[in-house]
Amino acid sequence: MTPSHIEHIGIAVTNLETAINFYEKVLGLKCYHIEEVAEQKVRTAFFMVGQTKIELLESTDPEGPIGKYIAKKGEGIHHIAFAVEKIEDQLAHAEKLGVKLIDSTPRKGAEGLDIAFLHPKSTNGVLIELCENKKG
Ligand code: ZN
Repeated sequence: MTPSHIEHIGIAVTNLETAINFYEKVLGLKCYHIEEVAEQKVRTAFFMVGQTKIELLESTDPEGPIGKYIAKKGEGIHHIAFAVEKIEDQLAHAEKLGVKLIDSTPRKGAEGLDIAFLHPKSTNGVLIELCENKKG
């Protein structure tokens, strides 16, 4: 597997508007997209930095993955997403190498990307997301 670039960095925040304000006012980035992903129980906001995005994640439900994460660890970097091709093949490859998968098959993430997570137990504590833009 050879990712082409870091697609995005996911950051868990308690308040999306406050966090957007920081990235816009302090870093001078422009939020170009806000999307609720009901399945993940999050609202997301996106910024472009070169070819890498910053994905802010605000929980819409304390029982959702980001709600639980913030309760346990507080705000901060939640995951790093690598852009790959043939995501199904990459998952099979990782599994063959003994990597524990959270998603054995890809699902739909924000912006219509196909995404899948590798388990942090197999990745030195970093939640790694693979994602593929099949829209081209
Ligand atoms: Zn992500």
